[in-house]
Amino acid sequence: MKSQFEVYLRLKPSNSQSQNAMQYQIYQNKKLQVLLPKHVKFGLINNSRDNLDFNFTHVFDQKSSQEHVFTNVTTPVINSFLDGYNATIFAYGQTGSGKTYTMSGAETWQLRGIIPRALSYIFDEIDKRTKFEYKIYISFMEIYNENAYDLLEKRHLETPLEQWNKIALFEDDQNNIHLKNLSIHQCNNEQEGIDLLMMGNFIRQVSSTPMNQSSSRSHCIFTVTLEGCDTTSETCFVSKLHLVDLAGSERISKSQVEGNLLNEAKYINLSLTYLEQVIIALNERMKGANRQHIPYRNSLMTTLLKDSLGGNCKTVMIATISSENDNIEESLSTLRFSQRVGQLENEIRRNEKVDLEAVVKRLEQEKLVLIRELEQYQRGGTSNTSNKKIQQQQQNLLPQSSGITINQKDIQEKVELYLNERIPSLDVKSIEETQRCFEAMKDLYNTRMKEYVTELTFISEKLQKYDEILTRKKEQSSFLEQKENSSPEIEVYRRNESPQITFKKRSNQ
Ligand code: ADP
Ligand code: MG
Repeated sequence: MKSQFEVYLRLKPSNSQSQNAMQYQIYQNKKLQVLLPKHVKFGLINNSRDNLDFNFTHVFDQKSSQEHVFTNVTTPVINSFLDGYNATIFAYGQTGSGKTYTMSGAETWQLRGIIPRALSYIFDEIDKRTKFEYKIYISFMEIYNENAYDLLEKRHLETPLEQWNKIALFEDDQNNIHLKNLSIHQCNNEQEGIDLLMMGNFIRQVSSTPMNQSSSRSHCIFTVTLEGCDTTSETCFVSKLHLVDLAGSERISKSQVEGNLLNEAKYINLSLTYLEQVIIALNERMKGANRQHIPYRNSLMTTLLKDSLGGNCKTVMIATISSENDNIEESLSTLRFSQRVGQLENEIRRNEKVDLEAVVKRLEQEKLVLIRELEQYQRGGTSNTSNKKIQQQQQNLLPQSSGITINQKDIQEKVELYLNERIPSLDVKSIEETQRCFEAMKDLYNTRMKEYVTELTFISEKLQKYDEILTRKKEQSSFLEQKENSSPEIEVYRRNESPQITFKKRSNQ
């Protein structure tokens, strides 16, 4: 299924006087027209033009609330994620334009952003979808100076960033990337998810010193992994939702940085430059150019988001811009980048697989029941249900009492006991009774033979089917194992311990 990238724009409220405010018009919540100020000199922009148009899935103006943004952008993406498709939402824009405000939110619960709202929505929805059993896992990482770090490792609270374990990338022989040193946490409810988000954000803040200000200079990826198993059909799926807060997109020349900061800015800008190159390459390929190589490997961020950018993923970008004229060059650069992203599309598919464990368990149980039944038949007994059936048939088959003192039911029971070797001999008192006994035996014999033949045919057919299914599942299992080993999913290490620090959800909703 094709999935076009969706690109949203959010304008940060302006603080400045009207003479410094960016001049723009929004048309039908879909188009932003920027009126270029006379004094601005743009290398790339034709000076003869005085306005530029940019199209979006939706434009959120300065007054748009967090809730409004969430409902419009995120709800359809998360529904798709809950149905088993991978999804990514990433925020792109210069430092201070509102990426973190949009993704994580501000200080109060009311101003919470997309990530905490997504967690609430996910847990509410899975409660409603009772046909499935779900498991949710969370991981949170930061990419800083081309190194990735686990933001949910509580030891990082006590140690400086330089001493943290770096997340290691491994490449398998099918060129898929696997990760080491990233913890993944099973999460049972919204509060646990929010605690993890807050712990990660806190670790991110304490790692940031005035010297490195890593929060605006690093990329952050909050990943929710969902495992859902259909309780009726033995099928399962695994989907991933990446919520990404990218580093500021401003250019080095303007950031006026020195020494270590210059190094950081270089890395940040380099990885965003590489992101742009990946988007350009994907665009060219979409337009039919013979472009086999997409340069994902040039930076850690593009390597990690390879699937989001050009793979099996429904991807949404939120471009954030400031509404000041001082920032117009950066804003135009963000707007131009977003137009390229908006042209892309991915081929998405549901990550479904058969729950082999459940299938094998069910078949094993069925096999046991069948073996037990077979043994019972071989010993000469019948199951309760077949006994009842035979008795009903016998009531109809045996002739009615002739009026002489012979109890038909007694004869039938006596014959059954005799045939089942419960009594050694048949005690008969008259020729008529002997005749009745023979008739009862003949009828019983015929009925039971028919039952045996039917039941045995049924059992042998079921056993044959069972063997066929088991062979198929074994083949499928080895096929899926091969596929799984070659899957581009991030390999993570699960950790049982939960973080000691807990944060409480604010109640002033
Ligand atoms: P970024 O992450 O892009 O560097 P932030 O999200 O940290 O930027 O935003 C910078 C400041 O502006 C923060 O104080 C934030 O609360 C505020 N801010 C950003 N966007 C909005 C908005 N849409 N409405 C109100 N305040 C905002
Ligand atoms: Mg930020």
